[in-house]
Amino acid sequence: MSRRLQRLWSALEQVPDLAGVPVEWRSLLGDDHEAVARFLLPTRRIAGSVKSTSPGRTCIHEIRKHKGEYLEVCPDGCETATRSRDEVTVHRLDVAGFAREIAASLGLEALPAEAVPNVAGVWKIGDYAPFAKYRFPVCLTFAGEPEILGSVVDGLAARSEPFILIAPTRSALGQAAADLLKRTDSLFLSLDELVGDGDGRLSLLDGHTAAGVFAEFHAAHVPQPKAEGGTAFFPTPPGVQWTDLAIVFKDAHTVSVSLGGIQRVLNYTAMGMANRKNRSPNKQWELLYELAQRNDLLRQSRKDPSKYVALEDLTNEHAANKQRGNRRDAHRKQKQLLAEALRQFFKIDGDPFILSGKGGWSTRFILTAEEGSL
Ligand SMILES: [Zn+2]
Repeated sequence: MSRRLQRLWSALEQVPDLAGVPVEWRSLLGDDHEAVARFLLPTRRIAGSVKSTSPGRTCIHEIRKHKGEYLEVCPDGCETATRSRDEVTVHRLDVAGFAREIAASLGLEALPAEAVPNVAGVWKIGDYAPFAKYRFPVCLTFAGEPEILGSVVDGLAARSEPFILIAPTRSALGQAAADLLKRTDSLFLSLDELVGDGDGRLSLLDGHTAAGVFAEFHAAHVPQPKAEGGTAFFPTPPGVQWTDLAIVFKDAHTVSVSLGGIQRVLNYTAMGMANRKNRSPNKQWELLYELAQRNDLLRQSRKDPSKYVALEDLTNEHAANKQRGNRRDAHRKQKQLLAEALRQFFKIDGDPFILSGKGGWSTRFILTAEEGSL
């Protein structure tokens, strides 16, 4: 359950510099105050003046320090009041803490909020990263004026990558900014429509999911991983490495792949290793299969040492003799092409192969074949 916040969002667009004394915040936020009080942190600054919070009054009251006390003095006839230090201390929205909860509520990879260089009034708060290598910046602004929001959108669009811009409401989104967002295939999210108070934490309002919020953006920018048919890529979660991967051959054309908690059964075509002309497995797939067999045969080698030696030599460059030189070079080339094909498909950086003893090499990932599949 998440409670809709009625006054917070527009208040954030109205408060200059996101700063005010506690009574100003309370009066602006009303019933929402409690839900966000944790973000209103005291600064070192004492307010010089405050707006009258008496009903119907618009006068500005001066804050005067007098004999160790703070006095709120009205030029217009309200009664002078004594205030505590906290009451006249400017409290500012903790943008970092606020942004962290917003990012979490939207299922984003949160980053410490930092000002976007050369674009005033906007923070980068995280990344939308559905898969490895697919990463889009997510920015937060509190701009309440169309001109300011317009210049934020201009500045972000100039960086020529699609982005996600979050603002408290849509009220400052003018037509020009909306058009530019559309032209750059970027996404605008309005917090009042999506986020509420979920028991002391900002969280998505009922009926919304992070996947739903980003569905259209995702479809526009991220190719669909396919299990069968055309070449695509694996839905690799961000931050995984080659050592997290396991490939198990089920038969000569099919593997079971496990990576970062995701499992798929794939054939060579789905992994982008089909021969373009006749759709049969290409040389890279054949090498992958050969390596899987070798791994399996390594276990069997105690029973049948001759098989072990033959297949070990296939990849053991140090041990290879001159007569096998050509074959060895062919394998080295195929190994490079296979490494490239695996990087393309899994979107993981670095070499999937590692040098092993005696000048040979092996895979950094688990590669094997099911019993009886050879
Ligand atoms: Zn007054």
